[in-house]
Amino acid sequence: MREILEQCSDPVLGRKLLDRIRKLAEEYKDRTGREPAFMEVCGSHTMALARTGIKALLRGHVKLISGPGCPVCVTDQKDIDAMIQLADGDGRILCTFGDMMRVPGSRRSLMEAKAEGADIRPVYSPDDALKIAAGNPDKEVIFLGIGFETTIPVLAATLKAAEERGMDNFSMWMTTKLVEPVLRVLLESKEVRLDGLILPGHVSIVIGRKGYRYLTEEYGMPGVISGFEPVQILAGIHRLLELVLAGRAEIVNEYSGVVREEGNIRAQQLMERYLEPVDEAWRGIGVIPKSGLDIRPEYAHLNAKRRFSVKVGEPRKTKCRCGEIIRGVATPPECPLFGKACTPARPIGPCMVSSEGSCAAHYHYMEAG
Ligand code: SF4
Repeated sequence: MREILEQCSDPVLGRKLLDRIRKLAEEYKDRTGREPAFMEVCGSHTMALARTGIKALLRGHVKLISGPGCPVCVTDQKDIDAMIQLADGDGRILCTFGDMMRVPGSRRSLMEAKAEGADIRPVYSPDDALKIAAGNPDKEVIFLGIGFETTIPVLAATLKAAEERGMDNFSMWMTTKLVEPVLRVLLESKEVRLDGLILPGHVSIVIGRKGYRYLTEEYGMPGVISGFEPVQILAGIHRLLELVLAGRAEIVNEYSGVVREEGNIRAQQLMERYLEPVDEAWRGIGVIPKSGLDIRPEYAHLNAKRRFSVKVGEPRKTKCRCGEIIRGVATPPECPLFGKACTPARPIGPCMVSSEGSCAAHYHYMEAG
């Protein structure tokens, strides 16, 4: 407990919140005979809950289930294989976020393709890829755009910049994901019993509190938009328990310093201008209608899927259980490969690669940490 309290900007408040959460959780258990079960939707919360020790401290009081909000983890195996194939073409430079480099494809990862000679460059932002394109006019530069609503506006801004600069050697391969469609699928499947949702602060900055109305209106599911500091997360869990005990299906914004009711309208307009909803394949879930955004036909010249022909077969089957972990039906230690055949140094699935992945979070900070 001391470690987590030391990370709190206000340790006294942190201790009070922990005590209060445990008390409310007991009250819930007395009423229902079971622990309250909350899903943290976003990968940043998964990592924060493990790193700060909150998840371990609440074990036996509140069941915290990791959700589908790690963008690397939910990228479909076929997309990974397509990206690796794309990298093999002559005269191409492939750019992507660092986490994608080590995700195993059916045969190899982008990192291995790079070692074999493909020009693949990890970048911090899509703008870096634009700079690489400007500096290499004789090469095709392709950026692999993954991410949720947090990242999608940045991708749209990059498309805008490429268009305005008239760049003809830059394109983007988009496999973006939206939060609402996947939450609908999870809630409708009823595979996991959930009492409430810890909603992603970063995504909420873009979509706003109003972006979650369907949760209460159609599913009766309460949620709290939370920040990422230990005290903010504890306050979010505490608020969620209060809502659940009061039987109130509401969305509470506990990150109101940065999240507005309407979200970021300019970011929404930017996405709307360059992107349109498309069916997306999610690892472990399958294709969800209109669950991603891809480049509008007016900007097809910026769409790598239109510029390059890539054909991949059925992915190689592995024993990786990332698909179940993403849906919240399994935990990392339930995978027989966890910490044995699969470690951060030798990952078998994306959940062990990503800095937001459940398996990596468990490995570093919980079971094997
Ligand atoms: Fe996949 Fe490795 Fe996680 Fe198992 S431990 S689910 S193999 S990433």
